[in-house]
Amino acid sequence: GGSGATQSDLQKARMRMSLQEHLLDFYQNNVNIPTEEQAVARRAALDICAELRVFLHAKLPDMPLREMYLSGSLYDELQVVTADHAQLMVPLILEKNLWSSIPGEDTIMNVPGFWLIRRENLEYFPRNSSYWDRCMVGGYLSPKSVLEVFDKLVAGSINWPAIGSVLDYIIRPVVPSETLTLEVQYDTERRLYVDFLPLLVMEDGTSLIAKPHRLVAERHENLWRQSFRVAETARLRALDQEDGGCRCACLKLAKAMCKLNPALNRLNASQLTNCILLLCEKEGDWTQDALADRFLQLLRALVGHLEAGRLPCALSPKVNLFCELTEQEVDELGYTLYSALSDPAGLLRT
Ligand code: GDP
Repeated sequence: GGSGATQSDLQKARMRMSLQEHLLDFYQNNVNIPTEEQAVARRAALDICAELRVFLHAKLPDMPLREMYLSGSLYDELQVVTADHAQLMVPLILEKNLWSSIPGEDTIMNVPGFWLIRRENLEYFPRNSSYWDRCMVGGYLSPKSVLEVFDKLVAGSINWPAIGSVLDYIIRPVVPSETLTLEVQYDTERRLYVDFLPLLVMEDGTSLIAKPHRLVAERHENLWRQSFRVAETARLRALDQEDGGCRCACLKLAKAMCKLNPALNRLNASQLTNCILLLCEKEGDWTQDALADRFLQLLRALVGHLEAGRLPCALSPKVNLFCELTEQEVDELGYTLYSALSDPAGLLRT
C-alpha cells in the first residue's frame, strides 16, 4: 500500500544520501591530488620537454615539426589518484599539396574516427620530396613508422642517464611500450610516465594522433586516430562553468573508480567524458547536491551503452567509442558495472 511505497522511498533517499557522503569522502581522500604533488610532476615533465626540444633542434634541425608541448589531464585539473602521467605532443608539419586525408568511413576498414593520410602527386614530387616520405608505407603516412623514427631517437640516441643526472631524475624509456613512453623517477617514491604523441593538425582543425588502433590487424596499421580530447574537455568545463555544476567532479570520480578497479581499467577518460556529455543532453540538474544521483545515472548509462555495444562520441555521433573493445571486454565491463548498481560504493573502496 501507500505506506510501503513511502518506506521504500525513504530507504532510497537514505541510500542516496549515504552515497553522496561516500562520494564526497572518496573525492577528498582518493581522487583529488594534492596541489604540491601536481606541481612537482608538471615540473619534471617540463624539464624533460625542454631537454627534448634542445636535442631535436640540434640533432635534426630540418625535421618539420611545430613546437612540442605538454598536455593531458595533469594540465586540465582532471588527473586523479596520483600525478603520474602526461603526454608530450609532437606536431608534424605536412606539405598541403603532398598529403591528403581520407576519413575512415570512406575506406574498406569502415571505421569512423580514424583516418588515412595518403601521399599525393608522387609523379611530380617523387619520393623524398617530403621529409615524412621516409614514413610512407604503401602510399600512406604510417603512424607506426613515425613512432619508430622518434623511438630510435629517444630510446636510441639520447643519453638519458647523463641528462637525468643533471636534472636529478632517473629517466628511462619504457620497453616494450605500444606508444613511446619515458619513465621519469623524480623522487624515490614517485614516477611520471611521459608519452610521446606525434600529431597532425589538419586545415579544418581536426587533430589526428599517432596512437594505433587497438585491434591491430595489418590493414589497420596506417590509421591515424582522430582526437576529440580538447573539444570534449572544453565542452564539459564550459557546461560546469555556466551553472556551477558537478560534471567534472563526476568525471573524476568515475576515472578514479576505473583506475582503482582492474575490471574497469579498459574504460578511458574519453569514453567517460562523452557518456557524461550525452547525459547532459537529457539531464539538466548538475548541482553539487545532485552528484550521487548523476553518478548513479552515469553508471546506468554506461551499462546501457555497453549492452548496445555502442557509445557515440558526443561531438561526432558516427564515431563509436567502444569500437576497440572486444565482445568479451564489453560483457565483462557491463557485468561489473551492472553488479555495482545496487551498491556503487563498493567500487569506491581502496
Ligand atoms: P587520463 O590519462 O585518464 O588522465 O586522461 P587524459 O584526459 O589525460 O587523456 C590521456 C589519453 O588520451 C592518452 O591515452 C592519450 O593518448 C589520449 N589522447 C587523445 N587525444 C589526446 C590529446 O589531444 N591530448 C592528450 N594529452 N592526450 C590525448
